[in-house]
Amino acid sequence: MELIDGKKISDLIKDEIAKEVGKIIAANGKVPHLAAVLVGDDPASQTYVASKERSCKEVGFISSLYKYHAGISEAELLKAIDFLNNDDEIDGFIVQLPLPKHISGQKIIEAIDPKKDVDGFHPVNLGNMLLGIPGFLPATPYGIMQLIERYNIETEGKNCVILGRSNIVGTPMSVLLSRNTNPGNCTVTLCHSKTQNLSDITLQADILIAAIGKPEFVTADMVKKGAIVIDVGIHRIPDAGTKSGFRLKGDVKFDEVSKKCSFITPVPGGVGPMTIVGLLMNTLKASKNKV
Ligand code: NAP
Repeated sequence: MELIDGKKISDLIKDEIAKEVGKIIAANGKVPHLAAVLVGDDPASQTYVASKERSCKEVGFISSLYKYHAGISEAELLKAIDFLNNDDEIDGFIVQLPLPKHISGQKIIEAIDPKKDVDGFHPVNLGNMLLGIPGFLPATPYGIMQLIERYNIETEGKNCVILGRSNIVGTPMSVLLSRNTNPGNCTVTLCHSKTQNLSDITLQADILIAAIGKPEFVTADMVKKGAIVIDVGIHRIPDAGTKSGFRLKGDVKFDEVSKKCSFITPVPGGVGPMTIVGLLMNTLKASKNKV
């Protein structure tokens, strides 16, 4: 078994981005600027946004944070989005999800200018992805595609089973891996909570991608020997024995599945760092598109 080291690949890609930024600065160009909108004080969202800010610093981007209290109205937030859409200094921005219940996440996503939608969630960018037109890919699937590419994982003709059909992970992964491209050309099965006889399907997978949001759901008896396993799940499991008070687990039971597969992404250090890299790659693209 070989670990797919998302930390290592993300560091490599960050170095590549930092070099690009160096060239932009040398040419007197404008430094890419990523903004993040954070509503409320959800600890996981705060951690995620802080880690994006750190990554921006590492590659030489400007980053800015727009924080709003959880009681902000939808109309006020739409006004903030309008401001960011029209601020020439900002190349791309994200709105950290989830939003409070009284705000429609979909409405907010649709209000983002697709040219600044570096999370790749706007219907225009999702439509472009479906048609194979260049645009912004959703950050997590973009990061996973980079892992597959940089580990030279053969995808053509392979059976790929994806667990979970969310708009941000499972469904875009099914599109990207079934496209007539390299990586791509997989025969994809997209599973969800209504799928029956799940293990019969997962046992056919040459490539198994787990994005269902259930800790350690995928066990060794669900995985074909030699399969490639990509674990998207992230869960904080309380653990008094650790300094933070929790331990991170994925959707895959790593200890037993890793003994059976050929490649596997660990949690942490697998897909997580690649999501941020996907965002940075999109931001660099957004800033270049403006030139
Ligand atoms: P999500 O919106 O939580 O949706 C879960 C999906 O799993 C749904 O499509 C659901 O089916 C399906 N599902 C639930 N139980 C199932 C079962 N027993 N069998 C088969 N399918 C089942 O998914 P998400 O937002 O993609 O998140 C998934 C996980 O990835 C979470 O742990 C999340 O924290 C993590 N995540 C990590 C990153 C990263 O950077 N590493 C990024 C994004 C998400 P239905 O559609 O039928 O309800």
